Amino acid sequence: MKIGFIGLGNMGAPMARNLIKAGHELLGFDVAPTNVEDITQDSIAKIAKECSIIFSMLPDGNVLRNVYEELIPLCNSKTILVDCSTVDVESALHVSREAEKNSIEVIDAPVSGGVVGAENGTLTFMVGGEKDAYDQIEPYFAIMGQKSVLCGGPGAGQSAKICNNMILGISMIGVCEAFNLAQKLNLNWSRLFDVVSTSSGSCWSVNTYCPAPAVGPESPADRDYKPGFAADLMLKDLKLSQEAARAVSAPTELGKHATEIYETFISEGGKGMDFSAILPYLAKK
Ligand code: NAD
Repeated sequence: MKIGFIGLGNMGAPMARNLIKAGHELLGFDVAPTNVEDITQDSIAKIAKECSIIFSMLPDGNVLRNVYEELIPLCNSKTILVDCSTVDVESALHVSREAEKNSIEVIDAPVSGGVVGAENGTLTFMVGGEKDAYDQIEPYFAIMGQKSVLCGGPGAGQSAKICNNMILGISMIGVCEAFNLAQKLNLNWSRLFDVVSTSSGSCWSVNTYCPAPAVGPESPADRDYKPGFAADLMLKDLKLSQEAARAVSAPTELGKHATEIYETFISEGGKGMDFSAILPYLAKK
């Protein structure tokens, strides 16, 4: 059984490679000439005809809608489409509804873990869709990742992803504010880390990904804030969280503020830097 993979960029190419390494025959497609000589590139039409499982890893919801508009009518009814891109919840629901009209299953399965996770096969998949379809795709998630969680029906994977990343964006800013305050109070960063990482302020942004250099486990702060997880991608996810919050009238004041802070940070030199570089940005203010 052949597998299709549409979108062979920074994330898609290493994910596709891991499926090939595990012995699967894979047909790929990308609109751009990509650096993936080891992956057979083909047309959407051929992928739709020959593959009963088709993954996608695309930039955003508009591209996903366009690709699926072309893809869905060409697929046969047993096909399962698995979109691993991070997109707005509404686009995930839209493509799921369109596919249903053609009796095709769609799973939304955005990931956490970044390019390193994609290369090492250690991604986490947050999945929305029907349980039967999930059960069929789970072995492929196990090849490309270390964990997959079925979060609910269509769109639930995207909902989980933006909720998680809204927490992360807010917590990283909070941690950066605290470390910047500590420095101004002449409090040593390593001592602060020792306290916070084992106290009630502990969180992933401190314990695993500390924004202060030479403190805690190695992180982008130790590599001049080269990403890691780029601030631009954090901003994308925060904007998606705000779009979703507006759609359901959920109050997310801190999420809104975090979005504004990342927007300003990026326009003032943070583009291309890791999202933890808010710390040196605050220190300069
Ligand atoms: P990328 O820009 O490197 O890759 C996207 C690929 O899609 C590109 O190769 C592009 O040419 C291709 N593409 C665009 N339009 C297309 C079309 N119509 N048909 C086929 N291919 C098309 O981006 P990426 O970093 O691989 O991210 C992909 C997705 O994963 C995004 O939704 C992103 O938010 C999400 N994500 C990225 C990371 C990360 O660290 N890079 C982490 C988690 C999630």
